[in-house]
Amino acid sequence: MKLPVCQFDIKSGVLCGKCEAKLRENIISPLDIKIMAALLDEEKNFIFLQNSEYIKSVELQGVIYIFLRFMEDVSQAQLLLLEARIDAKSKKKVRILRDSYNFNEFLSALIAPARLVSISKIWLPDGTEEFGLLIDNKSKISIPDQTLVELVKLLKGKTIRIRFLSS
Ligand SMILES: [Zn+2]
Repeated sequence: MKLPVCQFDIKSGVLCGKCEAKLRENIISPLDIKIMAALLDEEKNFIFLQNSEYIKSVELQGVIYIFLRFMEDVSQAQLLLLEARIDAKSKKKVRILRDSYNFNEFLSALIAPARLVSISKIWLPDGTEEFGLLIDNKSKISIPDQTLVELVKLLKGKTIRIRFLSS
């Protein structure tokens, strides 16, 4: 797995000077370190992790959201199995989500199995922009609205507003 710190540091449990600085500067968090260690431990059971990149973990309302980038096709069933393993290790509810460079793809993975019907850019009078998302079905989304907004802000630095076609 590709990590934002040395793999050796995570495996040994001691950060080198360079990675220690990343922790100090909040580029990575203590939660990231805990989750990276748990994921590295699962590499032998989930081979796709060897071809994945660790992006970030955030904890919101008691759930840990883990963002990974995959270089190969990974089924939802495999992700659920991995979630259960990390769940047991961290003693917290975890969700593993696909990150993507492409904003639409990122959003689509976040709200799946609900579908993104449309996305429009909204310019505010102060010159900032927001993204208005129209999503097909609220009942298909397991992540609360406010958490979705926060996750997009934390991962992509973008502000979204959500509307649903049906509840
Ligand atoms: Zn290091």
